[in-house]
Amino acid sequence: MRVTKSDRVVVIGAGPVGLCLSLALAQDEIPVTLVETLGDDNFLEQVPRAGTNHPATLEMFDRIGLYEKIEPRGIIAPVFHYWDRHENKLIAAFDHIHLKNDTDFPYVLQCERIKIVEEALRMATAHPLIDLRLRTTFNAFEQDAERVIARVTNAAGEDEVIEGRYIVSGEGARSIVRKDLGIEFEGFTYPDRTLNIEVAYDFRKHGYAERNYISDPDEWSNLFHWKGPPDRWRVHFPTAPEDEPEDLQRPEALQARLQGFLPKQGGYDIVGSNLYTVHQRVATKFRIGRAILAGDSAHVNSPIGAMGMNSGIHDAINLADKLIKILRREVGDEVLDRYERQRRHVALQHTQAETIRNKRVLAEKDPAVRRKNHEQLRRTAEDPKLARAFLLRSSLIESLREAAQIA
Ligand SMILES: Cc1cc2nc3c(=O)[nH]c(=O)nc-3n(C[C@H](O)[C@H](O)[C@H](O)COP(=O)(O)OP(=O)(O)OC[C@H]3O[C@@H](n4cnc5c(N)ncnc54)[C@H](O)[C@@H]3O)c2cc1C
Repeated sequence: MRVTKSDRVVVIGAGPVGLCLSLALAQDEIPVTLVETLGDDNFLEQVPRAGTNHPATLEMFDRIGLYEKIEPRGIIAPVFHYWDRHENKLIAAFDHIHLKNDTDFPYVLQCERIKIVEEALRMATAHPLIDLRLRTTFNAFEQDAERVIARVTNAAGEDEVIEGRYIVSGEGARSIVRKDLGIEFEGFTYPDRTLNIEVAYDFRKHGYAERNYISDPDEWSNLFHWKGPPDRWRVHFPTAPEDEPEDLQRPEALQARLQGFLPKQGGYDIVGSNLYTVHQRVATKFRIGRAILAGDSAHVNSPIGAMGMNSGIHDAINLADKLIKILRREVGDEVLDRYERQRRHVALQHTQAETIRNKRVLAEKDPAVRRKNHEQLRRTAEDPKLARAFLLRSSLIESLREAAQIA
């Protein structure tokens, strides 16, 4: 049956999840209204966040025509490292080439979230089936058996209602839809915040790869390379719960952190810094009636392992495929319960489990456990079969294969 104009999906939030969902729907003839509180003038003023894009996500970007736009703006990185800072030695190097028979993209693309949303927003603006509402803030919604009504404050500052068949919350962790539905966000928040420092310095001179996870009993870190000009590296450090944010971000404190990590004459060229709180939470339900959660509004996790944005985009594509079939009247909307079963399983058994474990491994203090962990990583990386199994899990390919088996 033909999709009509009233078979509109209202998507809240033009983050990576809302944008990928909107593009996938519109490319299959489903009309979308995409609501975003930021405007043209401040859309690119967002704090640095995700940036490592795994192979399965690259396949999804490719399907919606986004890959070719972001590849030139990113860095292709087949290899990532685990380092022991205490001993100043490389523990293991994992090469995605072991996945060459599993994916057309046996590498990650280091390309920041802000570049991804910039390119995707451009595509959404140009698509005739996407009614893009920038500078429009979503406030509340109602639903009945036939439709949803979203209440927004539009760019002119007026109250407006937008009608559709379904509403999808791509609003991020503070989702109003989730709160309005009374859905719990179960999990915990780490007491310590993470400090992110952006620096213009080429760490490859010291043997680092484009993406590095660095274990240390006192100060674990992550080190990632981003394409410029000028190229930048992002270094993450833990902080103590009692540390004052202003003290942590004073220029001399940032220099001292970097000098402690790797001493360098003349000081580092620091481009920026920010502090963020890390939550590990999953919504108890991903769907009630015509309202659906996707991405950070459904689940949040630590960035160690690069799974938040990636798994959110996997939600978006899974959901798009189901909404397309529902709105073409090919299937009933009970398939949305399958979306919840599949994607909650991934959130709990993969992204939560992996990111919690990753932090534990990097921050481990017991020397005997550290030695055992490092030895296991080394052996895994050196054995092609074990390395492939490890990479299938770390790159979320295994999560998609498992989800496909869920009825
Ligand atoms: C420091 C850091 C590093 C990270 N690194 C990685 C990584 O390497 N890999 C990875 O996969 N993930 C990473 N993540 C997680 C990743 O950034 C998020 O998982 C991802 O951005 C979630 O996308 P989203 O579209 O669901 O939500 P968001 O990116 O939060 O986007 C939500 C959008 O909704 C809009 N919005 C919110 N409320 C409203 C409203 N009421 N009305 C209208 N619009 C609204 C917002 O303005 C925003 O544009 C990192 C996170 C942090 C903090």
